Amino acid sequence: MSVGDAVARLPRPLLVVVDFDGTLSEIVSDPAAAVPTPGALQALARLAGTSGITVAVVSGRRLADLRRLIPIPGLTLVGEHGAAWDGVSVDRPAGYDEMAALLDGVAARHPGAWVEAKELSLVLHTRAVEDESAVVADAARALAGHPEVTFGKRVVDVGFVAVDKGLAVAELRSRCAADAVFFAGDDTTDETVFAGLGPIDVGVKVGPGPTAARFRVDGPREVVTLLEQLRE
Ligand SMILES: [Mg+2]
Repeated sequence: MSVGDAVARLPRPLLVVVDFDGTLSEIVSDPAAAVPTPGALQALARLAGTSGITVAVVSGRRLADLRRLIPIPGLTLVGEHGAAWDGVSVDRPAGYDEMAALLDGVAARHPGAWVEAKELSLVLHTRAVEDESAVVADAARALAGHPEVTFGKRVVDVGFVAVDKGLAVAELRSRCAADAVFFAGDDTTDETVFAGLGPIDVGVKVGPGPTAARFRVDGPREVVTLLEQLRE
């Protein structure tokens, strides 16, 4: 079955969840410069206004970032891989400052690497580093024993609570009592969602790489096309 056919058969109430970077936007070297691909915001806004459809974006980004990038009323935004929810304030986790210092030490040894301090997690960005495998190995050594570490595309995410996107999507599914879920994502952190989808759900991997998703598309433009089809 093609992904278009699978999308056409999705029942309602339907939960539509998408990742942001690499899924709604092309990957760019400076994360601050990422913008939604043409048509993405319009497609999301139309879907969010469709009865029987709940729309959410689940991303590794900070909630404040997501609110700026996706200013659409009626959309649920979940940040930091499921740690940050709209309207829920959480204290800075224990051990945060020590971990920030440790990651700063790793970044200082690899020109181009930098640490992003989010509300509830830390990210080591390695996109601009010449020898990425060296900084990843260094980070892996420094972080050995810390339970919440995810190695993504040119990022090392360090969390402090047991969350992942799969758990976040399961929570969203139960909140809106959806009969089916559509999910699209491009990175390794999205695999926890694909692994938790059922037989009538539609999981779409964006771009190359191993995946548990049933379907694959080339890039964000194709995701926008699917979002438009979901409404029909
Ligand atoms: Mg992504």
